[in-house]
Amino acid sequence: MTESHRPTVLRAAAAWTGEGGPVFPAIGRKVELHIEAGRITWLGREGERPAPPAAILQDLGDAWLLPGFIDAHLHLWGLDLSDPSALWNWPMAYRAARAVADLGRMLEEGVTAVRCLGGPLGPSLARAVQEGVVRGPHIVAAGEFICSRAGTWDHAAFPQHWVESLGMYADGADACRQRVRERIRQGADFIKVGGSVGEHTDALRPWGNDPARLRLSYSDGELAVLVEEAHRNGLRVASHAIGDEAVRQALECGVDTIEHGHGISDETARRMADRGALLVPTLSLPALRVRHPVKHVAEGWQRHRDAQRASLQLALRHGVRIAAGTDFVGPPGSPLGPSMMELELLVEAGLTPEQALVAGTAGGAEALGMQHRIGRLAEGFEADMVALPGDPRADIGLVRQVRFVMKGGEVVRG
Ligand SMILES: [Zn+2]
Repeated sequence: MTESHRPTVLRAAAAWTGEGGPVFPAIGRKVELHIEAGRITWLGREGERPAPPAAILQDLGDAWLLPGFIDAHLHLWGLDLSDPSALWNWPMAYRAARAVADLGRMLEEGVTAVRCLGGPLGPSLARAVQEGVVRGPHIVAAGEFICSRAGTWDHAAFPQHWVESLGMYADGADACRQRVRERIRQGADFIKVGGSVGEHTDALRPWGNDPARLRLSYSDGELAVLVEEAHRNGLRVASHAIGDEAVRQALECGVDTIEHGHGISDETARRMADRGALLVPTLSLPALRVRHPVKHVAEGWQRHRDAQRASLQLALRHGVRIAAGTDFVGPPGSPLGPSMMELELLVEAGLTPEQALVAGTAGGAEALGMQHRIGRLAEGFEADMVALPGDPRADIGLVRQVRFVMKGGEVVRG
């Protein structure tokens, strides 16, 4: 029996066990978790139940235990974007090696599961982690984006031949259906579609980079076919949807998770709640990009930040389910790793610390479709957890002071 498969007894001063679960405050007698074969088999107070035979005891002192954090929106690209041509010039093998290093770093930061929202490496990295070939968070991956010509990620600034080579274009209903089938063959866990168009390089276009004026990538018919084909195959659909029209179209067509989702009306927020769609607001990337040295680019990101805050208020008012996601890609402007700054930004935007913690645990688990396995400290759930030096409900900034990480019963840090 290897060390990682030996039963473990974990003790800590206190625990926040996740949405709807008990809180064990620091009251003298320690909280205790029993872990066998990578799963939590029991949790309660120290001394209430005998330890499993031959268990390893690990005492985390005055720490608070929490479920491992989940980043529900990032891109495992293995890139450093300080080289702007890296996207089309760096060999894929080099990018894969870098992405593996990124995964290790994220795990050390306490991120025990991620959803990769587009990029060629995701499905292979997910397989390598699942097989234990490399160490990293659980990965749920979309594979390459699906997008129309002149759509969300078809920027005029990119070399045409390179964009063609990605296999992301789908124009017309038949091509949409075909792309979904290709993704399934490539091992995608879900489908990522570009629902709205507009970014800072579109400054001179009528839609510019204004969240209120973005145009739709797809006709209703095309998007409906994409969703129908994905759902028929048991895959969920995530849409990059900014602006009221795009979010509303996504909801009408049955999209499951709304990525970004800002620039919406009160009525659209209500519909999102009614339909049970999950919102991933991605506050981290714009929060970093507003520091961009080019003035009109920084101003564009600030417009998005303002719209994000306003839309999140509407979503909260209607009880929309929220998952935390960073949209991080790689350094310097979107460093993979400090994912849980997203929780601080959610609190700054109006969530309570408890709501933000739920967004970064159970909300994320739901976005990944893994809500029955991860996102809570509960019997039968995977032993994915972090320890912090205090109660993050009193100080959300503590989520960035992770001092212990466990994934699947194996100690990663601490
Ligand atoms: Zn993204």
